[in-house]
Formats: sequence, structure tokens, C-alpha cells
Amino acid sequence: MKPRVFVTRTIPEPGLEILRRHAEVEVWPGDEPPPYEVLRAKAAEADGLFTMVTDRVDRALLEAAPRLKVVSNMAVGYDNIDVGAATARGVAVCNTPGVLTDTTADFAFGLLMAVARRIVEADKFVRAGRWKAWGPMAFLGHDIHGATLGIVGLGRIGLGVAERARGFRMGVLYYDPIRRPEEEARLGLEYVGRLEELLPRCDFVSIHVPLTPETYHLIGEAQLRLMKPTAILVNTARGPIVDPRALYRALKEGWIAGAGLDVTEPEPIPPDDPLLTLDNVVITPHIASASYATRTRMAVLAAENLVAVLLGQPPKYCVNPEVLAGR
Ligand code: NAP
Repeated sequence: MKPRVFVTRTIPEPGLEILRRHAEVEVWPGDEPPPYEVLRAKAAEADGLFTMVTDRVDRALLEAAPRLKVVSNMAVGYDNIDVGAATARGVAVCNTPGVLTDTTADFAFGLLMAVARRIVEADKFVRAGRWKAWGPMAFLGHDIHGATLGIVGLGRIGLGVAERARGFRMGVLYYDPIRRPEEEARLGLEYVGRLEELLPRCDFVSIHVPLTPETYHLIGEAQLRLMKPTAILVNTARGPIVDPRALYRALKEGWIAGAGLDVTEPEPIPPDDPLLTLDNVVITPHIASASYATRTRMAVLAAENLVAVLLGQPPKYCVNPEVLAGR
């Protein structure tokens, strides 16, 4: 009998091929995630779950899944999974770091540029038939070259954004629990030991920390009030790292100049969310890793991780490797 695997969305075929070689695979056919009750029922009969950031894998689900050996998330972040509960039940949790770093860093930089140079707003203006003449004062924005960028969380993606900033001759500051002297020397970065010291110095702030209890609403009213009125905030990490009500006031009342958000709290952002009434914010639907090549790499890596656990081999990436020790 092959093990059973439930895949919560249609994924790139090369990932499915790997799973099918080793397991009986069921793929949720919908364009939207399976409802929680469906996921819980599927998990109850599965040996492996192949999940996305949209799937909540909590304690109750894990407790109702006696056969489950692995939850393989097609993402680097895994804040949708109760890792503690999984570890307690001996369930391995896998993720896909690295393969999406450059694609996500590209996108973060793209959002930064879109907000600074008002690209989305200008496109809407043209489409609305309002472009009557070239204007010396039309769509003035903020220069990117030579500006100061603050990176919050200098991990893989934060570093990727810092590398891109060099090409724009930006000054780059970073805040992270761990200082990276080699990267400071390689990229000319400046370490700032406190977020409150970094924020007032930056023209752009880009968030790259994982969502944890410590980073929940890391950027709230107090932090936004420390930023320059000309500054732009970019969040491609996780929505709840930024307090959305404080951000709305900051953008509306001019504490900061703009924001680029690939992630929101909640997701999807409700159509009547006040942030959507503002011109100085660009919001995209959590697509920073969405390139053809990268989504295929993520699917393949997540599938390989899942299959490895089912075969009793070490997966390439496991966030709770202690559960594998006894196998
Ligand atoms: P990573 O390599 O683990 O980098 C995260 C960095 O943040 C690490 O250096 C970490 O330090 C640091 N950090 C942790 N807590 C912090 C805090 N309280 N203050 C300051 N720095 C802190 O992860 P990554 O691969 O760059 O990914 C970062 C995040 O991006 C993921 O967790 C995910 O949520 C998000 N993401 C989003 C998308 C998207 O589609 N929008 C795509 C990919 C990733 P330590 O290592 O010392 O903990």
C-alpha cells in the first residue's frame, strides 16, 4: 500500500510527478484553499500533507491525524503551521528556503520602485483617459538612487534586496538579531542595533523578518511615527508584521509617504479595507515568489521533502528535525 498524500492546491506538474511516484495523491481541485473542515478531514486519513501558506495546520487538525508523518509547506515561511504541536506528535514540518530568495527580492525591489515612482497610480491615470499633456509637476515621486534603504531582517531575502540596492547606489542599513560582518564588508552595509534607531534614518524600509510572536505588529504606530514623512515602507514578508490600522493613519495623515504591500492582515484584504482607498499604497496579492521557474522549484523541493520523510530519509529542509532523530 502506497502512503496517502493530500495536496491542498493544484501545483506545478513536476512536483506532482515526484509525489505520484511514491504515494496515492489527491489534489484539491478548487481555485481557493480547501475549507478548514475539509483539510482536517483529509489530514485524518493522510500520511503526508502538501500545504500552502493559506492552509491552517493547527493543534486540533494534527490531533485528528493519527497517520500523519509530514506536513510539507510550499513556502519558506511556516507561520500557518503549529510547529510545536507537530513536534509533540512526531510530525515533521518542511519548508522551501533558498529557491525563492531572488524572485522575492526582485519583487520587493519592484514594489519599492512602483511606490516611489507612482507607477501604478500613473498607469490608472492613463487608462482613465486623463493624460492630456506632459506636466512639469505631474506625478512627482521619490528618487531611489542614492537614497537610504533600511532592511529589517537581514536573512536570505533581506540580503538579496541589499544586493539589488547596490546597483542603485543606495546606502543600506540593516537591523537583525545577528550581525553579519562579512556581508557588511561585501555590500557596504551598516548595522543598526535598534529598530528605533534605523527607522528615522531611512528613505525606504523593507521588511524581511519571519512572522513570529516577537514580530507580530513589529511596525506599529510608534515605529511609523519615527519614520520620515517622505519615507516608503515595503512589506513582502507577512501581513501581521505591520499593524494595518496604524499604517492606514500613517499613510492618510502623512507620517510616511507611501507603502508597498505584497502581504496584508488579513489575507485576502477585504474590498472595503480603508487602505484600498489610498493612492499612496500599492497592494499585490501575495505574489512575490510567483515566477514560473520559482514556483516549479518550490513545488519540486516541497515534494522532495515530503517524499523523503515518507521514505524514512532526511529531507533537505525540516524545521523540526528532532522528530526525525528517532526514526
Ligand atoms: P530568513 O533567511 O530566515 O531571514 C529572516 C531574517 O530575519 C533572519 O536573519 C532572522 O534572524 C531575522 N529576524 C528574525 N526575527 C527578527 C526580529 N525580531 N527582528 C529583526 N530580524 C529578525 O528568511 P527568508 O528566506 O529571508 O524569508 C523571510 C520571510 O519572508 C519568510 O519568513 C516569509 O514569511 C517571507 N516571504 C514572503 C514571500 C512572499 O511571497 N511575499 C516569499 C518568500 C518569503 P535569525 O536567523 O537570527 O532568526
